[in-house]
Amino acid sequence: MREAMAYAEVGDDVFGDDPTVLRLEARAAEMFGHEAALFAPSGTMANQIALQLHVPAGGELLAGGDAHVVTYELGAAAALGGISTRTWPSVGAELDVEQIATMIRPLGYPSVPTRAIAVEQTHNLGGGTVVPLSVLRDLRGLSDRTGVGLHCDGARIWHAAVADDVSLADYGSLFDTLSVCLSKGLGAPVGSLVIGSRDKMTQARVIRKRLGGGMRQVGILAAAGLHALEHHIDRLADDHARARRLAEALAPHGVVDPAAVRTNIVLLDLSKSTLDAPALTALAAEQGVLISPMLPSIARVITHLDIDDAGLDRTIDVLSGLLRSA
Ligand SMILES: *Cc1c(COP(=O)(O)O)cnc(C)c1O
Repeated sequence: MREAMAYAEVGDDVFGDDPTVLRLEARAAEMFGHEAALFAPSGTMANQIALQLHVPAGGELLAGGDAHVVTYELGAAAALGGISTRTWPSVGAELDVEQIATMIRPLGYPSVPTRAIAVEQTHNLGGGTVVPLSVLRDLRGLSDRTGVGLHCDGARIWHAAVADDVSLADYGSLFDTLSVCLSKGLGAPVGSLVIGSRDKMTQARVIRKRLGGGMRQVGILAAAGLHALEHHIDRLADDHARARRLAEALAPHGVVDPAAVRTNIVLLDLSKSTLDAPALTALAAEQGVLISPMLPSIARVITHLDIDDAGLDRTIDVLSGLLRSA
């Protein structure tokens, strides 16, 4: 990846003439069966560009209460897009399409018109859970019937595709827009993409510039993304297998149900332990194992391309030791 970056052919992407960025955008669009894509510096910006495409200021977005766009984007939809967000009570990736249907408000005075629905795939706070294709098809139907736009926060959609053996094109066909991250499981240092129709991506370019996301000789980063798309998708199955092995090893401590682990995220429920998530995180870090405190009683462990079998064994040893003595 570093070599690809070093030798990347570059231009000025603010003028739309960086050949490596153009190649990455074309490749991503093709993989998801859409007309066009736009490179963005972060997943948050990619999501916000997409939300602004769907929802004019004063309009409404529907999303799960624990979605990334609701929880971890610092109020950007409201602060930057003038977008009002209403949430359904969410339990990870579980979606009740009938319930979402009842939430939709029509265009016109005096209610806040619902303009978009956002779905997260895989679901971060749900523990890397996957929304089944059948549920997404029902949502597509709802979107078609109502004219409400459908956006996928697909930061980790690659994991869903590998776990459920669904093609990226099948996912792509169900959404008006998607945001995907090259910098998470795929291991690029920087970069996300917004994906959709050519018209939408033309508008997206304007919004990106307005948000300060127009970059110049950015082919250096796009080359990393192209390398990631080429070499780092199929290997996600290894990360998933390691996550399951971790969950099975820690299950005797009563902190995780291995059957709930679908992809590369393992949530440890510490509500019955004397250690809370910040304490476990700090003690693990002292022994060189880095995890995150997600909620006060939930710690998140992620497997990824820098964690090999030896690293996983060490993680199991350290976390088992801490949980045993807790
Ligand atoms: C990481 C992530 C994003 C984007 O985050 P950035 O840090 O802005 O790149 C968006 N959605 C989900 C579900 C994520 O996990």
